[in-house]
Amino acid sequence: MSDPLDLAAEREAELRSDALADQARRSGLAGKTVADSATKCRICQTPIPNARRHALPGVQTCIDCQTDLERAGLAVMH
Ligand SMILES: [Zn+2]
Repeated sequence: MSDPLDLAAEREAELRSDALADQARRSGLAGKTVADSATKCRICQTPIPNARRHALPGVQTCIDCQTDLERAGLAVMH
């Protein structure tokens, strides 16, 4: 026969891993790629390097255009 304490501990561990998975989903960590990042700059169409897309999830512009936007005070906040 099973020990009620073991069952309780099992259930608790289950809940905890569910919560962690949920948190990961919410913070965008679970299986998240760079799908939200543009492959090309939306302004000049220059391909955006993968390294930049990984470093700045959701990035839409190349470094040159981003610099211009920041200078103009029009930068999109990430
Ligand atoms: Zn650009």
